[in-house]
Amino acid sequence: MSYEFDLFVIGAGSGGVRAARFAAGFGAKVAVAESRYLGGTCVNVGCVPKKFLVYGAHFADDFEQASGFGWSSGEPQFDWPTLIANKNREIQRLNGIYRNLLVNSGVTLLEGHARLTGPHEVEINGQRHSARHILIATGGWPQVPDIPGKELAITSNEAFFLEQLPKRVLVVGGGYIAVEFASIFHGLGAQTSLLYRKDLFLRGFDGAVRKHLKEELEKKGLDLQFNTDISRIERQADGSLLATLKDGRELATDCVFYATGRRPMLDNLGLENVQVALDDKGFIQVNEQFETSEPSILALGDVIGRVQLTPVALAEGMAVARRLFKPEEYRKLDYSLIPTAVFSLPNIATVGLTEELAREQGHEVKVFESSFRPMKLTLTECQERTLMKLVVDAKSDKVLGCHMVGPESGEIVQGLAVALKAGATKRVFDETLGIHPTAAEEFVTMRAPVTN
Ligand code: FAD
Ligand code: NDP
Repeated sequence: MSYEFDLFVIGAGSGGVRAARFAAGFGAKVAVAESRYLGGTCVNVGCVPKKFLVYGAHFADDFEQASGFGWSSGEPQFDWPTLIANKNREIQRLNGIYRNLLVNSGVTLLEGHARLTGPHEVEINGQRHSARHILIATGGWPQVPDIPGKELAITSNEAFFLEQLPKRVLVVGGGYIAVEFASIFHGLGAQTSLLYRKDLFLRGFDGAVRKHLKEELEKKGLDLQFNTDISRIERQADGSLLATLKDGRELATDCVFYATGRRPMLDNLGLENVQVALDDKGFIQVNEQFETSEPSILALGDVIGRVQLTPVALAEGMAVARRLFKPEEYRKLDYSLIPTAVFSLPNIATVGLTEELAREQGHEVKVFESSFRPMKLTLTECQERTLMKLVVDAKSDKVLGCHMVGPESGEIVQGLAVALKAGATKRVFDETLGIHPTAAEEFVTMRAPVTN
């Protein structure tokens, strides 16, 4: 049977664009459908605009610290609409780059909402297109618990386009987005509280990292309230909001920001017309080769709910393109040792096992840990401390995990991820010379373990 396209990709986000471009490069006839914005979540309402806001928020510390180095200037003023307008302009530029990337690689771009009408057929803008393979790369969407007044809350989607910076914000959640946005709102001058339902945020991160970040955020004046959750939100006569907590307390605020996880984006996708099975959390179920239970349909990225990170979606996109159109270059994707950063202020970065997980997996571990006030801050009033931690297998000497809380930790841990991927032992770390004076050199000069 002949089809109009070899591959029809639904979603021009991180994973979809990568799969489409590489498939076209391998000679396939490819179409991509996009209903909202080219580049997907990461470019439009994720990694990229988030990092701009984090940079913006960090200036609060920079202005404060500058006086220790002899600089003085007037009282710094922050203007949210300027930051948002500049961010929007840059994202528009990136949207254009994504359009060119697709078109120049020979991909047919179809703008509109795509819907599956059969195992080999997609409908978009009233037209049906046939394809040998269909790739679902539709990403995710913020999930807000069903409480009275939930429609008064915002999520990351709206936060990027607020007209004004709220004076008071309640951030709900204890994952990546909650911690990052609490730092953004607080750094930019909003009176910010973070409410998390259990006793310490960032579940799954190393215990020392979670505790260190808690202390640093509190030192900065961020109000952290753990073992707390909102039961309802109401609009007050003066336009402000009132959040009633499960313990009966009431908090007045101007903005309630929910960051309580993301669901797969399957809205009106036409799944009823095909045999694509979902897992118990509602994400699309795929095998190692990203095939769904419908043989002609594949899926990748956030919609399969494995690891919701852009570099993972990119790698999955690459793997799908190779498997379908360049099988001789296909390699199974290795999900081990994925480095990741949380762009809170200070940043967290991590690769490999936490101490807790290493012990749980039966490793006898040696832990090396260092907490210090970075050199740059010693001429300032700022008391922020950096944390570095290595988790080492006592028997093999292999470094199992590497964790940091401090400025530019993502930049530092990215390099260390290469070492861990290469199987570096603690001895290799010890034999590596430092770059002096840097904070990063501490990772190769930690000599005495803290626990055995
Ligand atoms: P997406 O990028 O979400 O793309 C899916 C695309 O499909 C969207 O453009 C959508 O409009 C389109 N679509 C959906 N349904 C249809 C349809 N029926 N028809 C046509 N088009 C459709 N990751 C990092 O690695 N680092 C970070 O710093 C980071 N920060 C983040 C910050 C925030 C606030 C958020 C929300 C996420 C962040 N992420 C970060 C995660 C990252 O953005 C995602 O993991 C990544 O974008 C997933 O890529 P994807 O291709 O699976 O989906
Ligand atoms: P996360 O899964 O990281 O965190 C969700 C948080 O919300 C958890 O603390 C969870 O608590 C809490 N939560 C879940 N349901 C409820 C509920 N019903 N009531 C109260 N609290 C609840 O999701 P995010 O939304 O923060 O981010 C989604 C994903 O996007 C991340 O996991 C990450 O993969 C990606 N991302 C990556 C970034 C980066 O690379 N820097 C930045 C932003 C996002 P509990 O722990 O108790 O389950």
